[in-house]
Amino acid sequence: MVIRIPETIYAAMVAHVSAGYPNEACGALGSKDDLVVKHYPTANAAQHPDDFSEIAPQDLLRISYDIDEYDGETIYYHSHPHSEAYPSPRDIEWAKRSGYLYLIFSHQHSPEPPYARVFAIDSSGNVTEGSIERV
Ligand SMILES: [Zn+2]
Repeated sequence: MVIRIPETIYAAMVAHVSAGYPNEACGALGSKDDLVVKHYPTANAAQHPDDFSEIAPQDLLRISYDIDEYDGETIYYHSHPHSEAYPSPRDIEWAKRSGYLYLIFSHQHSPEPPYARVFAIDSSGNVTEGSIERV
């Protein structure tokens, strides 16, 4: 699986997760034929934003409707302030239910810029890494 992300959107995601640091930050991307076409930065609605992130239901609904307009796919993204860019057990539990692709940033090498990896997580919790191509 390859996800192509325009540089402008990638830079906007880096800015969003960096603004949220040292908390986790999150948002969504809409893609069409593996090309990311739209960026939806959101607030982190988790009760403990320092160790989890989630999009508020009303934001997620609004984003889902918008992505349906162009028949796109939803990619969920969030950041890990300290740990590597790999899905946590809790991420996997949530991903199993949502079916979204997961793009995860890590600030573990801060003050260097965060790096990102992307994963497909199936309903059994199997994690497959894809690659990110910045275009
Ligand atoms: Zn996570």
